Amino acid sequence: MTTTAKPLPVPTAVTAPYWEGCRRGVLLLQRCTACHAVQLPPQRHCGSCLGDALEWQPAAGTGRITSWTVVRHPMSAAFAADVPYAVAIVALDEGPTMMARIRDCDLDALHVGMRVGVGFEPRSETIALPYFRPAR
Ligand SMILES: [Zn+2]
Repeated sequence: MTTTAKPLPVPTAVTAPYWEGCRRGVLLLQRCTACHAVQLPPQRHCGSCLGDALEWQPAAGTGRITSWTVVRHPMSAAFAADVPYAVAIVALDEGPTMMARIRDCDLDALHVGMRVGVGFEPRSETIALPYFRPAR
C-alpha cells in the first residue's frame, strides 16, 4: 500500500509548547533561567549547564541561511508534487539553528547569508510547520 500523506510531528511533553506556539504563529525557544542559554530544539535540560529551569520565550522569527539544498527527487510519493523545493539550515538571530523549508523564493536566488523570516503552514488542527521566506 502506498500512502501519499505527509508525515506530521507528534508532540511530546517536552515539545508540545513549541508546537502550540507554531500553531499560534509564534516561534518559541527555550531559555535557561540559570545560565540564560537559548536553545532549539526543545530539550528536557539546558544544553549548556544541564539545569532543568527552562522557560519559553518568543523568537524574533528572523535569521540567516547558513546552508541550503534544493530537493529535486522526492523522498516519498507524498512530496512528489512539491519538487523542486528548498530546505535550509537557518541560524536564528537568537543563536540556535533550525532546518526548514524555504518558500516564496526563486530557487536561483538562494544564498548563504540570505536574511529570512519565519512563517507557519497549518497542516492539521493542531500542527503548523514553520518555514522561512526571504525577509522583506
Ligand atoms: Zn543553562
